[in-house]
Amino acid sequence: MFLTHAAQFLYDALLTLAYPQACTICGRSVEQRKFGVACEACWKVTPIFTGDESVCWKCGLPAVADIAPEFREQVRCRRCDSQSFTVARAAGLYEGALRESVLLLKRQPHVSQHVEDLLVTAARRAPLTGSTRIIPVPLHSERRRVRGFNQASVIAQVLSRKLQLPVDEVTLSRVSTSEKYRAGLDTKGRRDTVAGAFEVRHPRLIANDDILLVDDVFTTGATVSSCAEALTAAGARNVYVLTVARA
Ligand SMILES: [Zn+2]
Ligand SMILES: [Zn+2]
Repeated sequence: MFLTHAAQFLYDALLTLAYPQACTICGRSVEQRKFGVACEACWKVTPIFTGDESVCWKCGLPAVADIAPEFREQVRCRRCDSQSFTVARAAGLYEGALRESVLLLKRQPHVSQHVEDLLVTAARRAPLTGSTRIIPVPLHSERRRVRGFNQASVIAQVLSRKLQLPVDEVTLSRVSTSEKYRAGLDTKGRRDTVAGAFEVRHPRLIANDDILLVDDVFTTGATVSSCAEALTAAGARNVYVLTVARA
């Protein structure tokens, strides 16, 4: 059956009315379509960043103590010292409704209106506001083929529409495992799946750019750091990372 985008939207809306979606966390019905996989009550208890909390200024890790606003830019967790991005921020913690939303995004190329609002709000906070270009973390070509889409690209497209910034999917690419083998990496290199996994194919495009690098979840930061290393080595000025959630 062929449906235009508008017809598909209407069809989905009717279906939601006829068969309310059950919240993936508590099982009650999701009151509004915009909440996606979770009900309003489950969203209310999901930790979302307001921008006022004390976090490591670089990687966004929540601090244990509350730091006075005038000192917030000096807060560092020290664990992220060796990572190559300028700063990393997320809409909230990888828990509850945000975790469920990230998991669904690995199966469906769609972001709920609520997650979109949270992402746009986070992207409009300093220092991320200086970005001029959005780059999604590339997916392994094999995984992309199996999944049919890259969830980071879906996030990039959503942000691009709202922030009026271009999405760049040509500059940064993932070096395939077989290419790495051909390059004759040593045993440690083969074990390490992230270091050196990215390369910049068109450095001219990003010279002196402030890049908004987006992905679904920030866990150790190794993946985005590896991307940022390749981007800054190719001439990017800043790499600001934004993810839906942070572990
Ligand atoms: Zn619920
Ligand atoms: Zn940190």
